[in-house]
Amino acid sequence: MTQTSPILWWVRRDLRLADNPLLTAAVATGRPVIPVFICDPLTDALGAAPKWRLGLGLSAFADRVAATGSRLILRRGAAAEVLDALTLETGATSVWWARQYDPDTKARDTHIKTGLRARGLDAHSFDGHLLVEPWTVETGSGGFYQVYTPFWRAVRDRIMPAPLPAPAKINAPVTWPLSDRLDDWRMGAAMDRGAGIVAKHLHVGETAARARLDRFIATRVGAYAEARNLLAEDACSGLSENLTYGEISPVALWHAGQGALARGAQGAETFLKEIVWREFAYHLMHHTPHLLHDNWRAGWDAFPWAGESDASQRWKQGRTGCAVVDAAMRELYVTGRMHNRARMLVASYLTKHLLTDWRIGRDWFAETLVDWDPASNAMGWQWVAGCGPDAAPYFRIFNPDTQAEKFDPEQRYCDRWLRTRGSSPSPDALDFYKAAPKSWGLSPTDPTPAPLIDLAAGRARALQAYETKKTA
Ligand code: FAD
Repeated sequence: MTQTSPILWWVRRDLRLADNPLLTAAVATGRPVIPVFICDPLTDALGAAPKWRLGLGLSAFADRVAATGSRLILRRGAAAEVLDALTLETGATSVWWARQYDPDTKARDTHIKTGLRARGLDAHSFDGHLLVEPWTVETGSGGFYQVYTPFWRAVRDRIMPAPLPAPAKINAPVTWPLSDRLDDWRMGAAMDRGAGIVAKHLHVGETAARARLDRFIATRVGAYAEARNLLAEDACSGLSENLTYGEISPVALWHAGQGALARGAQGAETFLKEIVWREFAYHLMHHTPHLLHDNWRAGWDAFPWAGESDASQRWKQGRTGCAVVDAAMRELYVTGRMHNRARMLVASYLTKHLLTDWRIGRDWFAETLVDWDPASNAMGWQWVAGCGPDAAPYFRIFNPDTQAEKFDPEQRYCDRWLRTRGSSPSPDALDFYKAAPKSWGLSPTDPTPAPLIDLAAGRARALQAYETKKTA
């Protein structure tokens, strides 16, 4: 390794310059740095919305990188082969990346690290995607946490490093390697739901993410503890969209929340706790990767989950006839996001009232959410379905109507997303019909769908299925 050979910065879910430990370390060497993003099979396997949103994030990030005198290089192919080729083309002797924690990525990265080191290269991974690495939080007996509250207690008093500043300049190599054109990758090709409609609701890139955090801390965090549950309020940070692509770091959120707490903002502790729910999801995914695919709790494989059906299709299309569920599913379709309480409601309705396998909901979210995150999504679904870690007991079944009375008392959320009341539907309610694929055959003049199931009957059926599982 020479002091002048370039470092390849394999950019993944760290589309930011500020508080990026890898970048700070790379710039500190004084060596040229070549940022490269690889569209590999794992990228291609993303759902339509996350893949499209990643493409938008890459475009914003390329501009940000260019402002430092550097350049984002884009390459397509198997990551191992692309990195090997780039080290030979550029003379890079170091390949650095920020860690991700899902099993597929870990397996790929381990293979790549071994291969690069066998060639005598410096292959090194950094933290930056999480507040705490999953293996650094241990119970008193050296195990991992399966319940959130003790996990929170173990994390909350940790000294978190201060966020690192963004470098003003990134040293360029003497010669830049060739790059693909982002447009040629057609990352939005599978977005058959009116990408232009969804785009209106996005906040793409590091600058937008930071502005969002500042606005949240200045105007919303005080009331967050109560207001975060109100479906019609813009009371949450909205930062999951940015965290998932690394456009902002969890450390930045943590310090902003701690600062607000020190100034006496009442909701700040709740905000910190929510950030740690994300950490908990990663902790669980690391220690029990089956969280992503299988019932986390033994015994649930005997549960009589239904597969895809007309009912699950109507759930996806926001046509169950249960107003708050339909409003939420349409919010998802039009914005690529869904309020957290609404996520719990629609997940409960699908897995309990409709007795449908949680993995059908997991997959629909993975296809349609712009903030899709493998760990939080799987944990959220298993938590609601009752088969996950620290889960809500299955027999605690949300009544969507009662929930709507409590968390949408003036029906502003339902009015925004449904065409059912009043003579002039909101623009967002109409956007749903513009976004919905023609194959769904929906029109704003359609009558309100009849309920798929009577709520009391659905609840009774779910409880019966649960009893049968227990006996089995
Ligand atoms: P805020 O209320 O501002 O919270 C700040 C941050 O804390 C969030 O950005 C997020 O990173 C974290 N957070 C908050 N609540 C949770 C939670 N329950 N679990 C994990 N982290 C949390 N979140 C995702 O980021 N991606 C997903 O794919 C995802 N799928 C979900 C599926 C289901 C069925 C459920 C019930 C929840 C899911 N969540 C997911 C968690 C949660 O709904 C979102 O993180 C939250 O709605 C994001 O909005 P926000 O950024 O305004 O959150």
